[in-house]
Amino acid sequence: MDITVIGTGYVGLVTGACIAEMGNTVYCVDTDPKKIENLKKGILPIYEPELDTLVTENHAADRLHFTTTLKDSIEHSNVFFIAVGTPPGEDGSADLQYVVEVARQIGSLITRPSVVINKSTVPVGTADLVQATISEQLKQRGLDLSFDVVSNPEFLKEGSAVNDFMHPDRIIVGTESENARQVMTELYAPFIRNRPRMMFMGVRDAEMTKYAANAMLATKISFMNEIAGLCERLDVDIEHVRLGIGSDQRIGYHFIYAGCGYGGSCFPKDVKALISIAHQNDYEPKLLQAVEDRNAVQKQSLYNKLMTHFDGELSGKTFAVWGLAFKPGTDDMREAPSVVLINSLINAGAKVKAYDPIAADSARREFPEQWFNEQKLTIVEGQYEAAIDADALVLVTEWKPFRRPDFKALKKLLNHPLIVDGRNQYDPVQIKREGFTYYGIGRMPIN
Ligand code: NAD
Repeated sequence: MDITVIGTGYVGLVTGACIAEMGNTVYCVDTDPKKIENLKKGILPIYEPELDTLVTENHAADRLHFTTTLKDSIEHSNVFFIAVGTPPGEDGSADLQYVVEVARQIGSLITRPSVVINKSTVPVGTADLVQATISEQLKQRGLDLSFDVVSNPEFLKEGSAVNDFMHPDRIIVGTESENARQVMTELYAPFIRNRPRMMFMGVRDAEMTKYAANAMLATKISFMNEIAGLCERLDVDIEHVRLGIGSDQRIGYHFIYAGCGYGGSCFPKDVKALISIAHQNDYEPKLLQAVEDRNAVQKQSLYNKLMTHFDGELSGKTFAVWGLAFKPGTDDMREAPSVVLINSLINAGAKVKAYDPIAADSARREFPEQWFNEQKLTIVEGQYEAAIDADALVLVTEWKPFRRPDFKALKKLLNHPLIVDGRNQYDPVQIKREGFTYYGIGRMPIN
């Protein structure tokens, strides 16, 4: 099959590379010329395990092409994936301008029957909007072409995106068209040979499924964080509670970790968008609003713990921060808890020395240049370097090398043996033995 993927970000690039790996010819289109130029040279815009090999090998094999204009691919393809961003607008609703622009371009260029597959996360009814936008363009061109708009939401996880795409738990396809159903079945057959997990449903059902999935996951996290706050006040350890409830098969162990809040490009924006969709339909989303509110509070929790410990005086102090990405395995810092923490610390007059195995470049783009010039914020090269003369260590992202650190070395490097553990990575018994003061999430402090 000859396929075009429009939008070459986390979703588009992974989709394009994985589909090319199965022998298809894929054209990846992006309006960012630098991104496309770099991709042609094998320089990836994101960090994602295994992706660089897939991209370079398929590009070299002439199966994966990169271009800034849809025109370049139009004569080769009649299957189009839309994988552009749907960022939150000011009121939290999904901004559909990029999706609509892509639909307009498709309608202004196609010359034969096509299948348009929407992978971006979009509100219910967007497929109708895409359909109408393409039809309008065709009408203006005096063309009467048949085309199908399919909803095929993406469930990959950053940090394991290639593996998730290659071995999906399920593939959701929203379509009422028999032709589109056949195209989708053929397209995804190589990915589900041993696990036929394709689910067909209505377009609107598929659009809602994506939001419901992300909202459910965000709810699990906020629920545990809410219980964690209570645990801190009752001398209970949330980690024991987690193990206790996870053993109930109806609950399970997945996604019930208390921590310093969820981030990333999806959960925060999708919960906000779902709240906005509810409001637009005269429906009060009480639970979703609470999920969102709890997360905002949770992202402040590490800062609050430091404020409590230092009696509200953080000015002039230096803090080591381990982990900047919103989760391990990615360089993505969108909505990361580290951003809230670092902004709060620097605004309170403190300095930050931060280390992340992958996200250093993202961090340099995220924070004001002035902070780096004035050395309010330094991104260091090693995890122990961050701890030198710091007044506390704050663990924000649970990258594997942070899980079993050399506590003796840390104690020597830090000004105060103080650890704030935003991911409950450390065993309080060991921490006590090593002589640290310790704050976790949902567990009593150790002094
Ligand atoms: P991204 O911001 O990483 O990439 C979007 C890309 O689209 C950018 O490179 C941008 O330059 C490009 N673009 C914008 N307008 C364009 C146009 N007119 N023509 C061509 N390219 C254009 O976004 P992402 O993280 O890949 O997310 C894309 C969509 O997938 C969103 O709706 C998101 O919610 C959804 N999604 C994301 C993830 C994830 O983990 N990142 C997972 C599942 C679903």
